[in-house]
Amino acid sequence: MANENCLEGVKCPKCEQEDVFKIVGVSTFTVLDDGTDVHGDVEWDDDSTCTCGGCSWVARLGDFRKGPDVTLHTLPEETQRRLRRHASHCSPEGFDMSHWEIYENETSVVVQCIRCMTVLVMLAKKLEGE
Ligand SMILES: [Zn+2]
Ligand SMILES: [Zn+2]
Repeated sequence: MANENCLEGVKCPKCEQEDVFKIVGVSTFTVLDDGTDVHGDVEWDDDSTCTCGGCSWVARLGDFRKGPDVTLHTLPEETQRRLRRHASHCSPEGFDMSHWEIYENETSVVVQCIRCMTVLVMLAKKLEGE
């Protein structure tokens, strides 16, 4: 289920898990000589450092919030087959989002293998609103 409270819109763009995140927050502690147990609200924002509890990807929280425009599942069938074929010899332990770097440049969507850095796919980008 999608997050609706503290983690609204937060989902790991690498492994797609959305349950556990480690976020570096800021809090003000009341400290006495014998210790502390009182602190105020913990604050964080989209610039806070966040680590995915699933794949340990580290990025700004904001980068988790927007999610990828493209995921493995939105790629065309033929493209997914090519990636699977590549993964079968490059990554024997499995085929998942953490194996790929998916990013966009001006004109295309690029899928790159994290292991061998081979660019597997370059798809022409759809125009806004298409
Ligand atoms: Zn992850
Ligand atoms: Zn590879």
